[in-house]
Amino acid sequence: MTDLISVNHALLRILSEFKTLPAEKIDISDALLRTLAEDIHSPFDLPLFSNSSVDGFAVCASKDLRAGTRGNFTLPVIGDIPAGVQTTLRLNRGETARIMTGAPLPEGADAVLPVEDTSYPYRDSSAPLPSEVTFYRFPAVGENVRPRGQDVQKGQKILSKGRKLQPQDIGMLATLGLDRIPVIRRPRIALFSSGDELLTPGIPPQPGKIFDANSYSLGLLAQREGAEVIRLGVARDDYQAVLDLFEKAINAEADLILTSAGVSVGAFDYVRQVLEDHGEVKIWRVNMRPGKPLTFGYYQKVPIISLPGNPVSAFVGFLVFVRPVIAKLSGLEPTAPPTLPVMLEHPVLSDGRESYLRAVVQKSPQGFIARLTGHQGSGNLYSLVQANALLIIPAGVKSLPAGEIVQAWLLDNEPLPVLEKFE
Ligand code: AMP
Ligand code: MG
Repeated sequence: MTDLISVNHALLRILSEFKTLPAEKIDISDALLRTLAEDIHSPFDLPLFSNSSVDGFAVCASKDLRAGTRGNFTLPVIGDIPAGVQTTLRLNRGETARIMTGAPLPEGADAVLPVEDTSYPYRDSSAPLPSEVTFYRFPAVGENVRPRGQDVQKGQKILSKGRKLQPQDIGMLATLGLDRIPVIRRPRIALFSSGDELLTPGIPPQPGKIFDANSYSLGLLAQREGAEVIRLGVARDDYQAVLDLFEKAINAEADLILTSAGVSVGAFDYVRQVLEDHGEVKIWRVNMRPGKPLTFGYYQKVPIISLPGNPVSAFVGFLVFVRPVIAKLSGLEPTAPPTLPVMLEHPVLSDGRESYLRAVVQKSPQGFIARLTGHQGSGNLYSLVQANALLIIPAGVKSLPAGEIVQAWLLDNEPLPVLEKFE
């Protein structure tokens, strides 16, 4: 068919129509999995000040010949430094001060002996300060000291623009004293399903009707990718109903309109008709299975991706086309899901379109092996529920024998089940 374009071509064309959204400033506590919009440099050294890594007694080791030696050494205790204080204490050779973990080293100190290596092994800060303490060994220079700047130097780049922020990154930002940071605004995706047959779950089935699956699976896929989803419900198979929801999407300032169904050649497939009258259809029909009637275009100036109505087609279409678009809008690299080479457990037939087949991938002594789940009809969601991967059969391939290696997209981050135990 002349108007079928390849998956890769369609994806590149679609991606070329999107650019990264602008930045906004948000609280670090809200920044999980958001994309950093600017490089972050450290405003200071870390640690900020040299401090003790143990509860112990600080000394000047560099000026003391006993440094690093064993023996009993009794020293006068001239001060007490709890964590969180600024100390004005100065240590001279032969003196010591009690110091707690994280407390700043007094001037002159360069080593700390842990309390357990002394005659005063009490960690409790309510233990009275002794006037002298016996060391059972003398610490070496630098022992149990976390010097200023050991981890990070002032001005050093800590996190790069484009980073998808993880909890440890946010802990780091807090360590730098930052509370609000610039991140890329979340994409706003207006979502609706279409079709007179669709019912909302929670009521008994009705003759000729089915329950709307796509509003849920697509909405949650989009949410999982970090988008803000504007749920517009279901458009009836009616020109005006579809038009009304497009208008709602415009009013909600959507960055992308995502719809399912109504883009085939059926008499009631109005989504495509509305686009032709009030926008533009740029791509229609892609050489893939499931998911051929994928449509990309514009309603007025807002980009729209219309996925086929069958729930598996919609799901696969989302992973192939919408996920990378959300990534690009969010300032992330539009990468594919994790891919694994797997061996077919049985022969596989395809129809020459680039196919995404539902499969279970398991680890075996021979490596990862794959077997298709259930009937591959694009309306059969259960075979997707049973799958942990999609096998990608390239365009032009109509059959593959058992033992062939194909690429698999892992559907989630669950560990793969082990088929046979082996050491
Ligand atoms: P269409 O693209 O409108 O021809 O729909 C293709 C098939 O997908 C039909 O069998 C529809 O009933 C089904 N379908 C459409 N939308 C949904 C939906 N939101 N949830 C479940 N099935 C749907
Ligand atoms: Mg329909």
